Amino acid sequence: YPTDYLLEIKNLSVNYGGVQALKNIDIVVKSGEVVTLIGANGAGKTTTLRAISRLVNCRSGQIYYDKRDITRYPAYKVVQNGIAHCPEGRRVLARQTVLDNLKLGAYTRPDSAIVKADINHQFEIFPRLFERRNQLAGTLSGGEQQMLAIARALMSKPKLLLLDEPSLGLAPAIVREIFSIIQNLRTTGVTILLVEQNANLALQISDRGYVLEAGCITLTDKATNLLNNEQVKKAYLG
Ligand code: ATP
Repeated sequence: YPTDYLLEIKNLSVNYGGVQALKNIDIVVKSGEVVTLIGANGAGKTTTLRAISRLVNCRSGQIYYDKRDITRYPAYKVVQNGIAHCPEGRRVLARQTVLDNLKLGAYTRPDSAIVKADINHQFEIFPRLFERRNQLAGTLSGGEQQMLAIARALMSKPKLLLLDEPSLGLAPAIVREIFSIIQNLRTTGVTILLVEQNANLALQISDRGYVLEAGCITLTDKATNLLNNEQVKKAYLG
């Protein structure tokens, strides 16, 4: 599959019963890029990430990743190949400690010495998690749970990180903190596909963006152009 892209979604459609959630969408992501999907509630942003992670089946179209056709891969194989998904609503294991949540993020990798080093690396990125390493995840604040969810996703050493609404329900100061962490992640070589309601902030840290409307890509451009696009400003930048 000759493509220079790390991720290439071609003509992808996804249905939920009779509802067509994605209609022939095309998305490409180059290695090292941060790309944002913006769109109203129900536009199909989450479904796009779930299709890449193989948490929903594709009705038609292809998903190429790292020169492989992953359209029919089982979800675990997608993770093994370097795609990590940080779902909306955080989904940390509330009754497990911060440390145990991080260990679980490395379940595809057996070498415990390396896992320990990786956990320490996460604690460097997220010092708050180190302070709270023995605390039950369910007792963390919303922002700390979001940090834990991202750190856990990073434990699988992804090449491509799928982030679904990392700012959802968080106070502005924490949102800025999370976004600055995401911005720093790109310098470590992680490619990021981001879904965000806060389109303004998301585009500020992105290279490019796609606008999804009712399951269709209606616009794609450099993030700086989208930030200055009158239509986008009116509909999504408030
Ligand atoms: P939000 O920001 O509200 O999560 P979204 O852009 O992520 O919106 P999706 O969650 O991808 O949108 O949903 C796209 C469409 O598919 C919506 O019309 C939604 O109602 C529908 N949908 C999503 N999940 C299911 C499901 N499990 N069963 C049936 N329909 C679904």
